[in-house]
Amino acid sequence: CSAAAAPRVCVVGSGPAGFYTAQHILKHHGGAQVDIYEKLPVPFGLVRFGVAPDHPEVKNVINTFTQTARSGRCAYHGNVTIGRDVTVAELQQAYHAVVLSYGAEDNRVLGIPGENLSGVHSARAFVGWYNGLPENQDLNPDLSCETALILGHGNVALDIARILLSPLQLLRKTDITDGSLAALACSKVKRVWLVGRRGPLQVAFTIKELREMINLPGARPVLNPADFTGLEDAVKDAPRPRKRLTELMIKTALEKPLEKPLETVSPREWGLKFQRSPQEVLPTADGSRARGVRMALTRLEGSGDSAKAIPTGDMEELECGLVVSSIGYRSLPLDPAVPFDTQRGIIPNSSGRVEGVPGLYCSGWVKRGPTGVIITTMNDSFDTAQSVLEDLQGGVLDVSTSREGFGAMESILRSRGVRPVSFSDWEKIDAAEVARGKAAGKPREKIVDLQEMLRIIGH
Ligand code: FAD
Repeated sequence: CSAAAAPRVCVVGSGPAGFYTAQHILKHHGGAQVDIYEKLPVPFGLVRFGVAPDHPEVKNVINTFTQTARSGRCAYHGNVTIGRDVTVAELQQAYHAVVLSYGAEDNRVLGIPGENLSGVHSARAFVGWYNGLPENQDLNPDLSCETALILGHGNVALDIARILLSPLQLLRKTDITDGSLAALACSKVKRVWLVGRRGPLQVAFTIKELREMINLPGARPVLNPADFTGLEDAVKDAPRPRKRLTELMIKTALEKPLEKPLETVSPREWGLKFQRSPQEVLPTADGSRARGVRMALTRLEGSGDSAKAIPTGDMEELECGLVVSSIGYRSLPLDPAVPFDTQRGIIPNSSGRVEGVPGLYCSGWVKRGPTGVIITTMNDSFDTAQSVLEDLQGGVLDVSTSREGFGAMESILRSRGVRPVSFSDWEKIDAAEVARGKAAGKPREKIVDLQEMLRIIGH
């Protein structure tokens, strides 16, 4: 082929990072072809499997991703796990550039005794369960207790608290799975504590999510006014989002429940507990499951985001039957050919260029760590795409020789018995889900079984 050969780029992962990277490259390079590989048959990563079911507006980004996937120069290949079915080296041979956007497939662990007891779950698994992630469908959380403890003060922790306490009729209209809805219908959980090691000035959730929780019908916030003493002054000069968030917590803490009209006084409640660091998940007498968590009380050293929680020596036991650890997701190394910073849990890179490996790029959570909303992921994916475009145009990537792209991968995959799922296959699964949801008044009923997904498309 000639020097005019179309640059072939592949993206690993079909979450926001994968799709936004593809979108930017396609938009700014009229000749580029982009293939998106995804390990699951179905696309969109955490937009489908992370974002809470009662936040449908957040999922509208799927419309943009769908437009990208339908572009004549983009192809989606689901059901292909890079690092297992195909190596990164094989992708590098078939493409001029390879972008790794495979997110964060694991979670941070607490590293305390009792963490593996029955009744203790990672937020990742719990969220995956109610959102239909196939690998979490057997989680079967025991919701027969009255008190749940969520370790963490981020938006994911608030999502879980909200799902646990939401009136069922609100959830019924969402795309939450039927299985989790049935479990929540029998739930006895009526109290949720969100526990953090540090103080109110260090919470990581945002005001919109907090306000939603405060206004949740049928659930009463319980905040201890003493936790907020003097904070009004402390945030006077803080950045506006932190100031407003703190003011909302203070206002809620000081509001006396009896000042609320009687009908809003509800049997369900939730609250924030601060400066408590989990030391041990305590077992029931027969050792079969969790009955509580022993906490070390802490004091803060330093201020603002960098404040450190130092144990004071005092302990406290919090009784609960369900523990959800929401202390963060974690990326994993994909393939020995790809450098990985195990300390920071990211692929070392500069502006998305993987250090020491020309032609290899990364975007999204695996590039900058598992924090930030979809917009943040979009911006950093555009930044990576820009690096790819510069390298294509600046001659760093040798496009004088053509690459076979998916043509090469197709035969490799066939020889290994892997059958990729195309975007139009996904659209069949999508249509089946929407049809199933319709009868129940839901936007969709997610198919949670991989084999069933494949059956629908005749694999
Ligand atoms: P992901 O979305 O995780 O996508 C990675 C994709 O790569 C996945 O589809 C995965 O299956 C695939 N993959 C993994 N390994 C392989 C492999 N080996 N081969 C091929 N494919 C692979 N942001 C908001 O703006 N609003 C919200 O309401 C919101 N709610 C959230 C709720 C939760 C519980 C979580 C965890 C996050 C939420 N976020 C929200 C943040 C948002 O989801 C992330 O910013 C974004 O999804 C990160 O994008 P990503 O593409 O890097 O990762």
